[in-house]
Amino acid sequence: MEFNLQKPHAVCIPLPAQGHINPMLKLAKLLHSKGFYITFVHTEFNYDKLFNSENPSEIENFKFEKIVDGLPPDNQRGILDLPALAYSVPVHCLNSFRQLIEKLNSSTHSPRVSCIVSDGVMGFTLKVAEEFNIPEILFFTMSGCGLLGYLQFEKLIEMGYFPLKDESYLWNGYLNTTIDWTPSMGEIRLRDLPTFIRTTNPDDIMFNYNLQSINNALKTGSLILNTFHDLEQEVLDILKTKFPNLYTIGPMSLLCRQICEPKLEFIESSLWKEDEKCLEWLGGKGPRTVVYVNFGSLVITTPKQLSEFAWGLANSKYSFLWVIRPNLVEGGTEVISEDFLNEIKERGLILDWCPQEKVLNHPSIGGFLTHCGWNSTLESISEGVPMICWPFFAEQQMNCLYICKEWGIGMEIDVNVEREDVEELVRELMDGKKGLKMRENVMKWKKRAEKSTKPGGESYIGLDLLVENLKGEIA
Ligand code: UDP
Repeated sequence: MEFNLQKPHAVCIPLPAQGHINPMLKLAKLLHSKGFYITFVHTEFNYDKLFNSENPSEIENFKFEKIVDGLPPDNQRGILDLPALAYSVPVHCLNSFRQLIEKLNSSTHSPRVSCIVSDGVMGFTLKVAEEFNIPEILFFTMSGCGLLGYLQFEKLIEMGYFPLKDESYLWNGYLNTTIDWTPSMGEIRLRDLPTFIRTTNPDDIMFNYNLQSINNALKTGSLILNTFHDLEQEVLDILKTKFPNLYTIGPMSLLCRQICEPKLEFIESSLWKEDEKCLEWLGGKGPRTVVYVNFGSLVITTPKQLSEFAWGLANSKYSFLWVIRPNLVEGGTEVISEDFLNEIKERGLILDWCPQEKVLNHPSIGGFLTHCGWNSTLESISEGVPMICWPFFAEQQMNCLYICKEWGIGMEIDVNVEREDVEELVRELMDGKKGLKMRENVMKWKKRAEKSTKPGGESYIGLDLLVENLKGEIA
C-alpha cells in the first residue's frame, strides 16, 4: 500500500460506544481529507465485529487498529457496561495503547505518529502522549451545554450538593434545587445536570470518572467540540475561558458532506447491522407523515415503558418507524404483541437498527421521538426535524433542556411515560400549532448549521484552524 512518509499521522481513539465512535470517525475522515494519515483505534471487541474479508480494515492512508478493553469475553457481554468500562479503561487500554503507539512508531509502513486525537473520556491517552512526546488534543463528543454541566461537578461537591444525603433525595423534590448557570438562563435545576450526580455514594465510579476526565481536559486548555457557534454561543463563550483553544467544528455530518472525500463514504462504524429496507418503506409515505422513534445505543427501557410508547404511537394514528434494538428492553419485547401488530398493520415499521442519518434526511419524516443523545440531536437539527424528548441519562437531560427551552425545537415527555401523553405529543408534533412553530424554528437552526459548515462559516474555519494546529504550523 502506498503512503507518504511526510504525511502528518493522527491516531484517533474514541470511547468504544456507538455515540462516540461515529463522531470520532467523522473527525478522522475530515482529517484524512485534509491530508492526514489516519490510524483509528477500536477495542478488540468492536474491531472484530466491524471488520472481515468483505470489510477490510485498511484503505489508502486510513488504517484501523485494535487495543484490548479488559471486559469479559464476547459471549458474556450484553449492553455496554459503562461502569465496568470506566474501571477497566485506565488500566487495560492504557497498556495496550502504549504498545500500539510503540508499534506504530517503529513501523516502516506508516509515517511516525505526529498527534493523538483522543476522546475526552479516554484521558489515559494523555499519559502515553506525554511518554512518547506526541502532541495530543481531546475531543468531547457531547454538547457544549453538556460539558458545562460536567464542569459543575467540583462545585457541587464543594457546595455539599453531591453526594445526595440519602435515597429519598432522588424523589423528594430535592433535584428541583437550582444552581447558577448562565447569564441568560440564570439558574438551572440539579435534575438538568448530568445524571451521574444522582447518587449517595461519594466514590461513585461514573461521577468520579467524568470528574477526572474534565480535570484532565482542563490541564490541556484545548479541545474539540461537535457543535456550532450560533447554536451554543453563550455556553461556548464560558467554555473558552476554561479552554482557550476551543475548536467547534459541528455539525460534523454537514461538514463531512462539504469536505470528506467520497471514497471514504463506505467506511462504516455501525456496531449493529443497518436495515436499509426502511428507506423503501419511507418512500411509500407522504411528505412529513412519519414519526421516527429511536433511543440510540445505550438506553434500556422497562417492558411497561415500551408498552406505553407502543400504544401511544398506535393510538396517535400516525405512521411510525421505530428502532427497537435487540437489547433495548430489560425483560423482553413481548409487549410488541400480535394484537399490537394487527392494530398498526402497515402504518408502523419496527427494526433492530437503521441508517439514522439517511432516515432523518428522508422527506417522509415529520418528527423524531428521541432520547436526546447529542449525535441524534445534531443530526435532527441538521435535517430540520423537530423532536419529542425522552432523555434517559448522562447529559441527555441537559440537551433536552436546551432543545425545549433555548432552541424551541422539542417538547419533553415525562420520565414516567403514559400512552395518553405519547399520543397527545405526537399529534402536536405532527400537526399542532406548537409543532408548526417548532418546525419553523428547527428549519432556522438547520440553515445556520449549513452556513456554519460551508466555506467561510465558523465550523469550516474552525476545522482549518484545528488542522493547522495539528500539523504544527502554529504554536
Ligand atoms: N444510530 C444509527 N442507527 C440507529 C440508532 C442510532 O445509525 O438505529 C446512530 C445515530 O445516527 C448516532 C448514534 O448512533 O450517530 C447514536 O448516538 P447518540 O449520541 O444519539 O446516542 P447514544 O447511542 O450515544 O446514546
